Amino acid sequence: MSEVLLELKGVRRSYNSGGAEVEVLHGIDLKVHQGEMLAIVGPSGSGKSTLMNIIGCLDKPTSGSFKVKGVDVSKLSSDELATLRRDFFGFIFQRYHLLGHLNASENVQVPAIYAGVKRSKRATRAEDLLDNLGLKERVDYLPSQLSGGQQQRVSIARALMNGGQIILADEPTGALDSKSGQEVMRILKELNERGHTIILVTHDKGIAAKARRIVSIGDGQIVSDEINEDKPSFEGVSNEDSVKINAVWRKSAGAFIDRFKEAFRMAVRAMFANRMRTLLTMLGIIIGIMAVVSVVALARGASEQVLANISSLGTNTITIYPGQRMGDVRSGRVQTLTPRDLNSLVGQPFVDSASASVQSSVLLRQGSLEYNGTAQGVSHDIFRVYGYEVEKGRLFNKQEVDTNAQVVVIDQNTAQNFFKGQDPLGKTLLVNSMPMVIIGVLAPIDSPFMRSDALYVFIPYTASMSRLANQNYLSSIVIRIKEGFSTAVAERSLIQLLTSRHGRQDFFIQSSDTIMKSISQATMTFTLLISAIAVISLVVGGIGVMNIMLVSVTERTREIGIRMAVGARESDIMAQFLIEAVMVCLLGGAVGVILSFGLGNILEYFVPSIVLSFSLDSIIAAVATSSLIGIAFGFMPARSASKLNPIEALARE
Ligand code: ADP
Ligand code: MG
Repeated sequence: MSEVLLELKGVRRSYNSGGAEVEVLHGIDLKVHQGEMLAIVGPSGSGKSTLMNIIGCLDKPTSGSFKVKGVDVSKLSSDELATLRRDFFGFIFQRYHLLGHLNASENVQVPAIYAGVKRSKRATRAEDLLDNLGLKERVDYLPSQLSGGQQQRVSIARALMNGGQIILADEPTGALDSKSGQEVMRILKELNERGHTIILVTHDKGIAAKARRIVSIGDGQIVSDEINEDKPSFEGVSNEDSVKINAVWRKSAGAFIDRFKEAFRMAVRAMFANRMRTLLTMLGIIIGIMAVVSVVALARGASEQVLANISSLGTNTITIYPGQRMGDVRSGRVQTLTPRDLNSLVGQPFVDSASASVQSSVLLRQGSLEYNGTAQGVSHDIFRVYGYEVEKGRLFNKQEVDTNAQVVVIDQNTAQNFFKGQDPLGKTLLVNSMPMVIIGVLAPIDSPFMRSDALYVFIPYTASMSRLANQNYLSSIVIRIKEGFSTAVAERSLIQLLTSRHGRQDFFIQSSDTIMKSISQATMTFTLLISAIAVISLVVGGIGVMNIMLVSVTERTREIGIRMAVGARESDIMAQFLIEAVMVCLLGGAVGVILSFGLGNILEYFVPSIVLSFSLDSIIAAVATSSLIGIAFGFMPARSASKLNPIEALARE
């Protein structure tokens, strides 16, 4: 007698049906030797398939032991069971169980994918096997384009792909006409002659009679076990095919990468097979990513514009205000900033030029016209501090400041509104009923601190203090830092100087640097806020992905069962679905990024004042986020797919 391949001792299997345990197998003892051809016969419902599933490691006995080549199967992990199914067994099912979206050759190759066989090698082998089974012309046909007999031959080729030392055929002829059935039986006998061990389940005595050994099952027990001595035995014939193949197929990093590539390929196929569903799933991600990328680009564009405006001033200035900080309600009562402070600052080495400022809202009148405007009481140096230039006339000088002269330099808006092309020089303008002579008109000013539609007039601060504001202190002092001095150093010495003059720090400063910083900060906060909202929409999109993936797992339960039966590990199934989820999200992310570029272009075309500034960072972040969402929300469905019970999965139609 040759080697015992399979040994069942007291195998029982019960199902839980409707809360009650129903025992289907009542203690099966069976030994199967290498090279046997064995038929298991019995009426329908007697437990043949249940027994077959246990033998094929798709199911486990409730009690009793089952050993494959002396190894107790109950001690094996799910990966080890998958290895057994993959390298040792070959399944042939009554209903063929081919994957509908793969052609004949690809179906045959599936077990080899999980075994880690090189693509070229497995394609050649699949085609050889199909050729041997008379399907040379049909390698690229889909299952739906093949007859039942042809499909069953494809499934035989698949069973042989990894060697198929033991072929398990559950009612292989059950769905076939008698001619195709006989053909399948002939193939099985031939395989037996070549050394394959064949276990065949049938309810047909005629089919069973083709086997040398016949085991009858009735109601979950073995009724008889007979050997027909007339038939030749092939026990001991070594199955060189499977030995050879198993020796070639070893684990390696290459094989691992190849498995990953295959999982990737299968995920892409699944996505394309369900184009509409994939697109709808992506929609949430597309919108979410588009929102994030556009909003970030918009915020960046806006802040870049403002910052460009500020730096367009060209000068590096520090402004000193009374009070503790911007918006301090008590700053109005702080009256310690005086013209003497200004004078002491002017002598400092880091000061290029400095100006006082006393600002008041005023009513401007000339002839019958009157407008509201802002009177800036300033030093003559203000024009140097900010780099203002005259278009017409001249700026006032130090002497005019010292003597509270009633002279005024007006801006473009004021000139336009009052004089409309006439020469304003020498004319008298009433500033809150104080008459002032216009001596100059400023060239257009592009400053982020001035409203483009407001009227500004510049008068000596001394005149403003004594005649307009009626105060003997300043609203602010602005200094321009000398070229070559750092803002930080200037700020420090300035604070020191004024603090010692005032006895305490009752003022605060703002440099164009700090303004830029606070603007960047503000846009950043704004961007983060809006992005947070966009991220919520991404999460909603992710939940959509999870939802569809769960549906997809349910829909493809049979496919998962087939893959498991031919040797897919839990991790293979998991990888396939996870990759699919990540792909959907990544593709959605890419489409979202592209759409937001499109949106940006359209927006800039129609509303040129809006500038979108796309950053590589936000795009990378968007893509990373979408893959993370894919992983996070794809995990649950992928896991539930990998934990499916292959038997139940296969039973699903
Ligand atoms: P056969 O293949 O011999 O026709 P099966 O092994 O498929 O019989 O089934 C044997 C018995 O076990 C039947 O009575 C069937 O109803 C029951 N059975 C099979 N699978 C399940 C299951 N998953 N849950 C509950 N009962 C089952
Ligand atoms: Mg059955």
